[in-house]
Amino acid sequence: MRPDSAEADRQWLVVEDGFAPARANMYETIFTTGNGYLGTRGALVEGHAGALPGTFLRGVFDHHDSAVTELVKAPDWLALAVVVNGTRLDVTSASVVHHRRVLDMRDGTLSRETVFEDSEGRRTLIETVHFASGADEHLCCLRARITPENHAASVTVHSGIDGTDHNLDRRPVYANPPPDDPQMKWHKWARSKHLDDVARMEVAGGVYLETRTIDSGITIGYAARTTVSTSARPTVERRHRFVEQVFHTQVPPGGTLTVDKLVTIYTSRDESAAPVRQACLDELHHHSEAGFAACHERNHAAWQAKWTDSDVTVDGDADIVRAARFNIYHLLIAANGSDPRVNIGANSLTGERYRGHAFWDTEVFMLPFYIYTQPATARALMLYRYHTLDGARRNARDGGFRGARYAWESADTGVETTPKWTVDGAHRIWMGEEEIHVTSAVAYGLIAYAAATGDEAFMIDYGAEILFETSRFWADRLEAMPDGRYALSRVVGPDEFHEHVDNSAYTNYLVRWHLRHAVHVHAELTVTRPREMAALSERISLRPDEVEAWVTLADRICLPAGNDEGVIEQFDGYFALESLPVTMDDNDMPQYPDGYHHYNLAGSKLLKQADVVMLTYVLPDEFPDPVKLANYNYYEPLTLHKSSLSPAIHSIMGIEVGDPSRAVQYLRRAAFVDLLDNQGNTEEGIHIASAGGTWQILVAGFGGFRVRNGRMTFKPWLPPDWNAIAFRLKWHGNTLSVGIRHTSATFLLSGRNALQEEIVVNDEPITIHVDKETVIDLMKTGS
Ligand code: BGC
Ligand code: BGC
Repeated sequence: MRPDSAEADRQWLVVEDGFAPARANMYETIFTTGNGYLGTRGALVEGHAGALPGTFLRGVFDHHDSAVTELVKAPDWLALAVVVNGTRLDVTSASVVHHRRVLDMRDGTLSRETVFEDSEGRRTLIETVHFASGADEHLCCLRARITPENHAASVTVHSGIDGTDHNLDRRPVYANPPPDDPQMKWHKWARSKHLDDVARMEVAGGVYLETRTIDSGITIGYAARTTVSTSARPTVERRHRFVEQVFHTQVPPGGTLTVDKLVTIYTSRDESAAPVRQACLDELHHHSEAGFAACHERNHAAWQAKWTDSDVTVDGDADIVRAARFNIYHLLIAANGSDPRVNIGANSLTGERYRGHAFWDTEVFMLPFYIYTQPATARALMLYRYHTLDGARRNARDGGFRGARYAWESADTGVETTPKWTVDGAHRIWMGEEEIHVTSAVAYGLIAYAAATGDEAFMIDYGAEILFETSRFWADRLEAMPDGRYALSRVVGPDEFHEHVDNSAYTNYLVRWHLRHAVHVHAELTVTRPREMAALSERISLRPDEVEAWVTLADRICLPAGNDEGVIEQFDGYFALESLPVTMDDNDMPQYPDGYHHYNLAGSKLLKQADVVMLTYVLPDEFPDPVKLANYNYYEPLTLHKSSLSPAIHSIMGIEVGDPSRAVQYLRRAAFVDLLDNQGNTEEGIHIASAGGTWQILVAGFGGFRVRNGRMTFKPWLPPDWNAIAFRLKWHGNTLSVGIRHTSATFLLSGRNALQEEIVVNDEPITIHVDKETVIDLMKTGS
């Protein structure tokens, strides 16, 4: 089980060598294992001072103690403590002679080998491997091997389900912040309790823990069965919200004790025929019969299928391949297609930051990855927006508006869950009221999903209602001006340094686009699906004159005129703001000017993240090339990239406007944001939007992929030291394999849904045929 270190495999492996307390929480995050149903931080199974373990189950939210509804820290299934000759083997009680962990992204397994030495010089090797099954989403597996290297050992193994942990909540404000001591680090936070103990018991061959969320009343069951390779019989220990099996056995010098732990998890949110406890026990029984090795095999096969659809390779940059796979790995464990009532939080299921809430990050940053490589997941993510439409209606109503307004931060019901204050209580957060562009992001996701999949039923069954209700919101929210135009005042665009702004270009352009698409979809469905449209219109009391009004509103929405060079003013009055000099840090990334921070830059032109540049990316057809270039040139130097969402967009747009000088640097910034912890907060969770952004850089940036007028279009560009890039795209049920080199591009369409497809390469239409490879000479096409 020693982790494979062959050079050929390096591009699939993320490795930690040696144990450094200061990096432990960061590794917990990047070593998260999961399957879309759950995510488990890669904590050491035995725990350590300063550790922040955590398992998060999708959709399990609760309010109770916390400032706003949050994703609950569910019981920990990894817990496994080994006591050898009376010494508990952990980084505090024993010394670490050797420590190495490897995340194998090919099959989502985390392996670990640590040699501990006690005060008598007795060395024990602990090896573990664990995964959340990619084949069976309710199943988690752990195998440990315990080898006393130079002594005969009396070994005690505690294998438990630990529901005693709490979510962290707001940080208490201290005049003198506590020193950076691992013991102090997390327990100085207030803790929010979300779980009541329901049952902890011994069951046939194992243990069972049942808890219930306090406000939302979700029952959570974990069943675990641990077996060891000797004849030792377990005893069962129980405490409040905790249950474990304990084994005592003897192991000779050089001998190995193998411990297998299988765990099944269900909640009352799951649509299983049996009650939670029965569902856990039935599934545990089934997998126990098969055993650890068979579970491992099934997991491996499931992962292979995921990678077949989702891998991206770069010939010429091994580091980028590994980093790209790391981001894709995290996208693959963040969601799956089996639950249409959940979304992806801004830190996925890897940590508590942003409390599991979904933002515009989903549609604008992550959804493209799923649409083009895992469309069933994309569909489930869009269905979440449908199932939270009532919450969105309530948000509109609460603000005094008709229709539906999607929450800036969305949890289980879609009702706005943005906290009103920063954790230290020092700053009011206005995003829940003002960052309304998220509502158009939802429309953007729907339209992109429909265009790529051809899933027509989706539009009439779900999408249309979302488009119409959200358009209604815009119609009511737009403010009539004396000159006949319509304004949107007091908003926040993507750049959050500037609050309460009027006529954000990003927002208003998106709203125009949104209204026009709603009108278009309405017209189309009235012809193609008259009966369903009539029923829908009646259900939501939609009148034809309302739809006509959307046309007028779209035509008359205030859009900033460009200056002489075509630079679009980010919002009313932006051009008059102060210019501040920007200096670079050691990484050649911009830093806050002296004395400035997130909350005092409103009077300056500096931007937190891509805003107008973002606009020219998401609506590629609305702006001619010189306008895109002018805006990139103007805004790029003013952008501080204080959101991890920003670099990806700059990489892509730099390439599009013909200024790719920083494209690779921005790619590195996005692709390594967590591997190098370059925002400094990876310990709190993966930057999953940046992971989606990284995929988009490779495919939409270097691959130059856009969907325009219903067709796949490509304008590739490769950095001089790369040889090739390859990826796959799902399109209308088929798969397009794309390989790009400096001078040629190769396309292969496979599947049975259409026999041919017209694509556009460097502005030239090309017809490709199923199962027939087409090679295009890029030196002879277009630009
Ligand atoms: C983010 C906002 C978010 C707020 C509260 C800030 O750091 O920039 O988008 O709404 O936190 O979660
Ligand atoms: C960014 C937002 C983003 C949020 C969650 C904030 O820092 O400014 O654009 O939606 O983080 O990732």
